[in-house]
Amino acid sequence: MKSKYDAYCAYALLILFSSLLLPACSTSAMNSATESRQQVDLIIAGDHIVSMDANGTVYKNAAIAVTDGVIVAIGTSSEISSSYMSDNILSGDNRIVLPGLVNGHSHAAMTLLRGVADDLALKEWLNNYIFPAEVKFVDADFVRIGTELACWEMIRGGTTTFVDMYYFPDVIANVVESCGMRALVSATVIDQRSPDAENAADSLSKGLAFINRWKGRNSRITPILGPHANYTLNAEQLRDVRDAALEAGVSISIHISESPYELEYAKNTYGMTSINLLDSMDFFDAPTIGAHVVWPTKAEIPILAERKVGVIHNPTSNMKTAAGIAPITEMLQAGVRVGLGTDGAASNNDLDMWEEIRLAAFLQKVHQMNPEVMPANSVLNMATRGGAEAIGLGDSIGSLEVGKRADIIQVSFDDVHFIPSYDVISHLVYVADEQDVTTVVVDGNVLMKDKEILTIDTERVRTEATNLAARIQKALP
Ligand SMILES: [Zn+2]
Repeated sequence: MKSKYDAYCAYALLILFSSLLLPACSTSAMNSATESRQQVDLIIAGDHIVSMDANGTVYKNAAIAVTDGVIVAIGTSSEISSSYMSDNILSGDNRIVLPGLVNGHSHAAMTLLRGVADDLALKEWLNNYIFPAEVKFVDADFVRIGTELACWEMIRGGTTTFVDMYYFPDVIANVVESCGMRALVSATVIDQRSPDAENAADSLSKGLAFINRWKGRNSRITPILGPHANYTLNAEQLRDVRDAALEAGVSISIHISESPYELEYAKNTYGMTSINLLDSMDFFDAPTIGAHVVWPTKAEIPILAERKVGVIHNPTSNMKTAAGIAPITEMLQAGVRVGLGTDGAASNNDLDMWEEIRLAAFLQKVHQMNPEVMPANSVLNMATRGGAEAIGLGDSIGSLEVGKRADIIQVSFDDVHFIPSYDVISHLVYVADEQDVTTVVVDGNVLMKDKEILTIDTERVRTEATNLAARIQKALP
């Protein structure tokens, strides 16, 4: 009730303000003032706009004008209202505006497996629980429902872009297309019987067919290849994926150096560590997004920077599976592009990027016993601009600047945990959670307004997910 009343008051004040703005003007003068303003699709305002641009600009009492999905102006509210008009104005009272969050690594449909197996080592969890459950239950319908559930959760929490790796990528892309988010959708390549392929060669050829169907089809959806890891594909198969990616002109997302098990496997099989192995086969000739990278050696970190590998840090998943603590501070110092991700909800167990932001900061601080490392601004950067750069979309999203795509969120500062508010960046990093996000805009389209999701039939998804989970539960040991 309170927020609706506030919105009503803001609207009434806006009308009152507009009518008082030019009290001495004649009607004709007012008409010409109105006509001189440019009509845009959307104006979104905020008490503060945290732009995340290279200078860290924070605008006070400001607004953004959006048209054709692009940010056309950003400035103080009076500057914007004197130059632009729109039928769609999102009020900024007690709202902080910032770029949509970028979830650089997920397995969205695994929301349907959240909580099926916890508190296990990664190898045991994958081989004894997740892979068998996937072969048994995962089909196109599972992926559709699970991805819709994930998109609902991500939109609710302010995530606008995600990099997904799962089976039935066409189904994932269809869900992304209809819910309005932005995504890099990886076709999983893995050398074992999976829900949508028989082996590595089969999954690669199906993945390439998916890329052919989706490349250039929707600017919000980028089809890429997702070789699972160097312990589920052999060296020759990894080379095949690299060649295929280069030929198709697409990126790769792959798990790299996630756990001590992977490190041991690479050493025993190839006599080298994961990043050296991939580098020795020129794997990084294809633009690569490396998920986790918990165990790079000191000598491997400069390779990641030089080869422009985008590293995605997944602190919650790494803590829960006890994979280890990624040397994020060292990677950032070496110039590695680092973003944040949730990983799948089976190892997290949610898709809350605010939790990743906070834990990424805390984990580095306690690991180094130094509260000065990973300050608030740098961790917020990893969730926005840095994340966009790590996944290869730095030119179009990640910050609020004229010319960039309009992926924008509003965070309400109404909740008690924002009182008092001395420093907005501090509150966004150390206080905010997904329940505080009120508005989500992707490519200029409003996907959530006043916390109401506009692009997903959430009650249908709730029913379908609950029914499917009941069937899964019955079949579990
Ligand atoms: Zn993963």
